[in-house]
Amino acid sequence: MTPRLETDDTAGCRQPHVNPEWWHDEARTPQEITRAKNICKGVGGRPACPFLDPCLDYALRITVSGIWGGETETERRRMRRERGINARPAYFHPGRNNAWVARQMHSRGVSVRAISERLGITDQAVRQILARVA
Ligand code: SF4
Repeated sequence: MTPRLETDDTAGCRQPHVNPEWWHDEARTPQEITRAKNICKGVGGRPACPFLDPCLDYALRITVSGIWGGETETERRRMRRERGINARPAYFHPGRNNAWVARQMHSRGVSVRAISERLGITDQAVRQILARVA
């Protein structure tokens, strides 16, 4: 069965004061990557994201890019090797969560490519989502 990840507006990366691009590790500065990871894991007395464990589990089983569950893509590759996990390719799930994240990122000027990499879906799928809500 294909892994699924369901989150809601309590997720750390969905808070209004954060920039969703911080979770797109290829494009970010080391400080932004650390900030995103800290929001996932919780530091300095702040609680961890309530979806930390399922988010990491999902991203270990599906080949998505960016920071998920507090770990970068490189860190997840190492964890998969250590745990003997074979990841499956990402698939397009035109669900409410993907659409919400895509709209949020798009409204902040994030590129279609960065959105598609963050969600693990195709550029075309992102354009379809954005066209539906336009
Ligand atoms: S653990 Fe996952 S859902 Fe939570 S803030 Fe990090 S990337 Fe977002």
